[in-house]
Amino acid sequence: MKKINLRDLSKEEMKCLIEELDMERYRLKQLWQWVMQKGVSDFSEMTNIPKSTREFLRDVSQLNSLKILDKQVSNDENTVKYLFELYDKTAIESVLMRHSYGRTACISTQVGCRMGCRFCASTLEGVVRNLSCGEMYEQVLTIQKDIGEKVTHVVLMGSGEPLVNYKSTVKFIRNIADKDALNISYRRITVSTCGLVPEIKKLADENIPVTLAVSLHAASDEKRNKLMPINRKYPLAELMQACREYALKTKRRITFEYLLVKNVNDSINDAIKLAKLLKGILCHVNLIPLNPVKENANFDRPNIERIKAFKNTLIKHSINATIRKEMGIGIDAACGQLKFKKLKGRS
Ligand code: SAH
Repeated sequence: MKKINLRDLSKEEMKCLIEELDMERYRLKQLWQWVMQKGVSDFSEMTNIPKSTREFLRDVSQLNSLKILDKQVSNDENTVKYLFELYDKTAIESVLMRHSYGRTACISTQVGCRMGCRFCASTLEGVVRNLSCGEMYEQVLTIQKDIGEKVTHVVLMGSGEPLVNYKSTVKFIRNIADKDALNISYRRITVSTCGLVPEIKKLADENIPVTLAVSLHAASDEKRNKLMPINRKYPLAELMQACREYALKTKRRITFEYLLVKNVNDSINDAIKLAKLLKGILCHVNLIPLNPVKENANFDRPNIERIKAFKNTLIKHSINATIRKEMGIGIDAACGQLKFKKLKGRS
């Protein structure tokens, strides 16, 4: 029988385990804190739990951890990119970014991705599997251990589509926000999606008001269809409606990510269309100059003048916009790049 990974459990599930094992009730908080807050990698570290109980727990459960396969640190040391190996030898990437306001972990939600966005390296070999909530959690814990500091913000913006892996994503968010776990509040957590409309609506009703980041990248169906296959299933009108609902229900400002691709979606006309599309939505636009991916055809990034002109057009039309500060360009930090280079031909 495969042992359960304790970091895959919700608090409620851990409570049931404790009852099943006939452990005292107050052990729940102790065990939860060892697993989710202190992030222990072995049962022997649980010093306030009797040895016999620890052995018992070891018989029925396990504490998986991630192996660091590779690590790249940027010159200014503000960005660290990790390549982690999972128990089944598959690999994922995570990134740690230091900001003036704290430390953000960018984590993966799937091995690979099947959404097929044309500019993205994560999707080059399709999806292998979903990550469990424990595997998402362990990315944050392993980073914290490695840098010796606490992670203060989490963005689900690594490889994979979090809303395809909906259940584990929501469980992960609840766990990490728990005050006896890492206590990272919902407003410091961002879920980034390519635009799965039914799941955006569902997320709005979960009572976990995280920031929603929507990868928009085009302001017309015609252009978006070409860049992101998901748009054929959920076209812009439906997506915008779901975003409006999300902002209204959660009272959270939505982030729209807009990748700037030279001569594809970067004209002043594109900016005006985008401003019209977003009119009246509580939002902010994050402009991301494309990180060229060698394997991905003819896409390039615009020059800085064009990027600034795009931004200024949005602002002139009363849309809040910033240009994403680039942190990882020297170290393959765009989605899937490090993994693709290191492990070509391996999942
Ligand atoms: N599936 C989710 C989260 C993972 S992708 C989503 O689509 O949002 C995280 C972000 O990186 C998305 O905005 C994605 O469009 C962007 N991205 C992918 N490839 C990129 C590249 N080559 N350069 C810059 N950003 C990229």
